[in-house]
Amino acid sequence: MNEYIVRTNSTEETLQFSKELAQKLQPGDVITLEGDLGAGKTTFTKGLAVGLDINKNVSSPTFTIIKEYNGRLPLYHMDVYRLEDSDEDLGFDEYFEGQGVTVVEWAHLIEDQLPEELLQIKISHGEENSRNLTITPKGKRYEMLCKELFA
Ligand code: ADP
Ligand code: MG
Repeated sequence: MNEYIVRTNSTEETLQFSKELAQKLQPGDVITLEGDLGAGKTTFTKGLAVGLDINKNVSSPTFTIIKEYNGRLPLYHMDVYRLEDSDEDLGFDEYFEGQGVTVVEWAHLIEDQLPEELLQIKISHGEENSRNLTITPKGKRYEMLCKELFA
Protein backbone atom coordinates (compact mmCIF):
# COMPACT_ATOMS: atom_id res chain seq x y z
CA MET A 1 0.00 0.00 0.00
CA ASN A 2 1.17 3.52 -0.77
CA GLU A 3 2.51 5.57 2.08
CA TYR A 4 3.68 9.16 2.12
CA ILE A 5 5.93 10.67 4.74
CA VAL A 6 5.96 14.37 5.50
CA ARG A 7 8.44 15.77 7.97
CA THR A 8 7.63 19.08 9.61
CA ASN A 9 10.06 21.06 11.72
CA SER A 10 7.68 23.39 13.53
CA THR A 11 4.06 23.86 14.56
CA GLU A 12 3.68 26.31 11.67
CA GLU A 13 4.87 23.76 9.11
CA THR A 14 2.31 21.24 10.31
CA LEU A 15 -0.42 23.89 10.17
CA GLN A 16 0.69 24.84 6.67
CA PHE A 17 0.58 21.26 5.47
CA SER A 18 -2.88 20.49 6.87
CA LYS A 19 -4.17 23.79 5.51
CA GLU A 20 -3.01 22.73 2.03
CA LEU A 21 -4.62 19.33 2.45
CA ALA A 22 -7.89 21.02 3.43
CA GLN A 23 -8.09 22.76 0.02
CA LYS A 24 -8.53 19.34 -1.58
CA LEU A 25 -11.12 17.89 0.77
CA GLN A 26 -14.64 16.99 -0.29
CA PRO A 27 -17.92 16.28 1.51
CA GLY A 28 -17.79 12.91 3.26
CA ASP A 29 -14.01 12.74 3.58
CA VAL A 30 -12.70 11.03 6.73
CA ILE A 31 -9.24 11.54 8.23
CA THR A 32 -7.93 9.54 11.18
CA LEU A 33 -5.16 10.93 13.37
CA GLU A 34 -2.96 8.72 15.51
CA GLY A 35 -0.04 9.62 17.72
CA ASP A 36 0.88 10.11 21.37
CA LEU A 37 -0.35 12.99 23.50
CA GLY A 38 1.33 16.14 22.21
CA ALA A 39 2.17 14.61 18.84
CA GLY A 40 0.21 17.29 17.03
CA LYS A 41 -3.19 15.79 16.21
CA THR A 42 -5.17 18.81 17.38
CA THR A 43 -2.61 21.16 15.82
CA PHE A 44 -3.11 19.35 12.52
CA THR A 45 -6.87 19.75 12.88
CA LYS A 46 -6.48 23.50 13.50
CA GLY A 47 -4.73 23.84 10.13
CA LEU A 48 -7.50 21.87 8.45
CA ALA A 49 -10.05 24.25 9.95
CA VAL A 50 -8.16 27.28 8.63
CA GLY A 51 -8.04 25.66 5.19
CA LEU A 52 -11.79 25.05 5.34
CA ASP A 53 -12.37 28.77 6.07
CA ILE A 54 -13.54 28.14 9.61
CA ASN A 55 -13.14 31.29 11.69
CA LYS A 56 -13.44 29.72 15.12
CA ASN A 57 -10.40 28.44 16.96
CA VAL A 58 -10.46 24.65 17.10
CA SER A 59 -9.74 23.29 20.55
CA SER A 60 -9.45 19.77 21.85
CA PRO A 61 -12.96 18.31 22.12
CA THR A 62 -11.90 15.99 24.92
CA PHE A 63 -15.02 16.41 27.03
CA THR A 64 -17.55 16.48 24.25
CA ILE A 65 -16.13 13.78 21.93
CA ILE A 66 -17.51 15.58 18.90
CA LYS A 67 -17.41 19.24 17.95
CA GLU A 68 -18.88 20.65 14.80
CA TYR A 69 -17.63 23.76 12.97
CA ASN A 70 -18.99 25.55 9.93
CA GLY A 71 -16.82 26.60 7.01
CA ARG A 72 -16.51 25.91 3.26
CA LEU A 73 -17.52 22.44 4.41
CA PRO A 74 -18.60 21.49 7.93
CA LEU A 75 -15.83 20.01 10.05
CA TYR A 76 -16.70 17.26 12.52
CA HIS A 77 -13.84 17.04 14.98
CA MET A 78 -13.84 13.93 17.17
CA ASP A 79 -11.49 13.00 19.97
CA VAL A 80 -12.44 9.54 21.19
CA TYR A 81 -9.65 9.26 23.75
CA ARG A 82 -12.04 9.27 26.68
CA LEU A 83 -14.56 6.85 25.28
CA GLU A 84 -14.86 4.21 27.97
CA ASP A 85 -16.85 1.70 26.04
CA SER A 86 -15.86 1.68 22.40
CA ASP A 87 -18.71 -0.70 21.57
CA GLU A 88 -21.20 1.98 22.42
CA ASP A 89 -22.85 3.27 19.25
CA LEU A 90 -22.69 7.03 19.40
CA GLY A 91 -23.97 7.48 15.87
CA PHE A 92 -20.58 8.07 14.28
CA ASP A 93 -21.91 6.86 10.92
CA GLU A 94 -24.06 9.94 10.61
CA TYR A 95 -20.90 12.00 10.64
CA PHE A 96 -18.88 9.74 8.37
CA GLU A 97 -21.70 9.75 5.85
CA GLY A 98 -22.51 13.42 6.32
CA GLN A 99 -21.74 16.40 4.11
CA GLY A 100 -18.75 17.51 6.13
CA VAL A 101 -15.19 16.39 6.71
CA THR A 102 -14.68 14.15 9.75
CA VAL A 103 -11.40 14.11 11.67
CA VAL A 104 -10.93 11.49 14.40
CA GLU A 105 -8.18 11.74 17.00
CA TRP A 106 -7.24 8.34 18.57
CA ALA A 107 -9.26 6.62 15.86
CA HIS A 108 -7.98 3.11 16.65
CA LEU A 109 -10.16 3.18 19.78
CA ILE A 110 -13.23 2.99 17.53
CA GLU A 111 -11.60 0.88 14.85
CA ASP A 112 -14.67 -1.31 14.36
CA GLN A 113 -16.85 1.70 13.68
CA LEU A 114 -14.63 3.41 11.13
CA PRO A 115 -15.48 3.41 7.43
CA GLU A 116 -13.35 1.19 5.19
CA GLU A 117 -12.07 4.09 3.15
CA LEU A 118 -10.26 6.91 4.86
CA LEU A 119 -7.02 8.87 5.02
CA GLN A 120 -4.90 7.60 7.88
CA ILE A 121 -2.29 9.94 9.35
CA LYS A 122 0.13 8.83 12.04
CA ILE A 123 2.18 11.53 13.70
CA SER A 124 5.35 10.67 15.54
CA HIS A 125 7.70 12.87 17.54
CA GLY A 126 11.15 13.51 16.21
CA GLU A 127 13.67 15.65 18.04
CA GLU A 128 12.29 18.85 19.57
CA ASN A 129 9.79 20.34 17.14
CA SER A 130 10.14 17.87 14.33
CA ARG A 131 7.35 15.46 13.51
CA ASN A 132 6.96 12.71 10.97
CA LEU A 133 3.53 12.41 9.41
CA THR A 134 2.96 9.01 7.84
CA ILE A 135 0.02 9.26 5.49
CA THR A 136 -1.71 6.13 4.21
CA PRO A 137 -4.63 6.42 1.81
CA LYS A 138 -7.20 3.65 2.17
CA GLY A 139 -9.40 3.42 -0.90
CA LYS A 140 -9.39 4.98 -4.37
CA ARG A 141 -10.68 8.39 -3.36
CA TYR A 142 -7.80 8.90 -0.95
CA GLU A 143 -5.20 7.47 -3.33
CA MET A 144 -6.28 10.11 -5.85
CA LEU A 145 -6.19 12.78 -3.18
CA CYS A 146 -2.61 11.87 -2.24
CA LYS A 147 -1.52 11.74 -5.87
CA GLU A 148 -2.79 15.30 -6.28
CA LEU A 149 -1.37 16.48 -2.99
CA PHE A 150 2.09 15.05 -3.57
CA ALA A 151 2.30 15.66 -7.32
P1 ADP B 1 -2.26 16.07 20.33
O1 ADP B 1 -3.60 16.55 19.86
O2 ADP B 1 -1.64 15.04 19.41
O3 ADP B 1 -2.25 15.62 21.76
P2 ADP B 1 -1.49 18.86 20.20
O4 ADP B 1 -1.66 19.28 18.78
O5 ADP B 1 -2.55 19.25 21.16
O6 ADP B 1 -1.22 17.28 20.24
O7 ADP B 1 -0.11 19.39 20.76
C1 ADP B 1 1.07 19.39 20.01
C2 ADP B 1 2.03 20.38 20.64
O8 ADP B 1 3.31 20.27 20.03
C3 ADP B 1 1.57 21.81 20.42
O9 ADP B 1 1.89 22.57 21.56
C4 ADP B 1 2.40 22.25 19.21
O10 ADP B 1 2.61 23.67 19.17
C5 ADP B 1 3.71 21.52 19.47
N1 ADP B 1 4.52 21.26 18.28
C6 ADP B 1 5.85 21.47 18.20
N2 ADP B 1 6.32 21.15 17.00
C7 ADP B 1 5.28 20.70 16.27
C8 ADP B 1 5.14 20.21 14.93
N3 ADP B 1 6.19 20.09 14.09
N4 ADP B 1 3.92 19.85 14.52
C9 ADP B 1 2.86 19.93 15.36
N5 ADP B 1 2.92 20.39 16.63
C10 ADP B 1 4.12 20.77 17.09
MG1 MG C 1 -5.55 16.38 20.72
